[in-house]
Amino acid sequence: MVAARLAEAYPGTPTELCALAHRNPFELLVATILSAQTTDARVNSVTPALFAAYPDAASLAVADPADVEAIIRPTGFFRAKARSLVSMAAGLVERFGGEVPTALEDLVTLAGVGRKTANVVRSVAFDLPGLPVDTHVGRLSRRLGLTEATDPAQVERDLDALVPAAARGALSLRLILHGRAVCLARSPRCAECLLADVCPTAPTSLRAARQAAGAPGAAAERRAPAGPAGTVAAGRRQRKERLPGRA
Ligand code: SF4
Repeated sequence: MVAARLAEAYPGTPTELCALAHRNPFELLVATILSAQTTDARVNSVTPALFAAYPDAASLAVADPADVEAIIRPTGFFRAKARSLVSMAAGLVERFGGEVPTALEDLVTLAGVGRKTANVVRSVAFDLPGLPVDTHVGRLSRRLGLTEATDPAQVERDLDALVPAAARGALSLRLILHGRAVCLARSPRCAECLLADVCPTAPTSLRAARQAAGAPGAAAERRAPAGPAGTVAAGRRQRKERLPGRA
């Protein structure tokens, strides 16, 4: 139910839903590492220069970290990120022939890559099962009663059990979109939410009214999925500015 409604509100494949600009798995891996603690738009503002200078793992593996830092500085934490990128690329060259591996167990051995980043790469770049759990996914999953866990790995396992493997990546991205547009961390906009009738966190009176009306609140959601900015179209335009990915 939840996954189906979110799919209607936020259509598209994981690749289409991901706003990190990339042309191949290597670029997505780099962009996802850079996306920590910053916006996708900011990552997208530096990656063209970064990928022009270092188009593959071989070139990034021998980069001077100071040169990488100069390019990625706007993304914040640039010294640590530069170290991670160069080490990650060296790992790709030394252990994976310069190619991004597809197995989660291999991906998480790379510098700067945890389960979240690995699952972004698997689901978006390779169209493989992978459910990245970030702060939005965790928060919404708990509010919706899909899990009680706070540990991201357990949240991932609980959500994995609820959807087919092929649908996991898209569900994660849609939860992130809904978390940014409607189910905000501090003040969720339940009156605008298409899930209000099935969400145990929604005000009781609102949930009952929605259930009585037999409607998911989609009308309100369709009117204002992105908050004050307004329409679904506007929400989808803004999505490219706000999404991560995700990781
Ligand atoms: S009803 Fe409220 S708490 Fe539940 S998912 Fe929607 S915005 Fe979040």
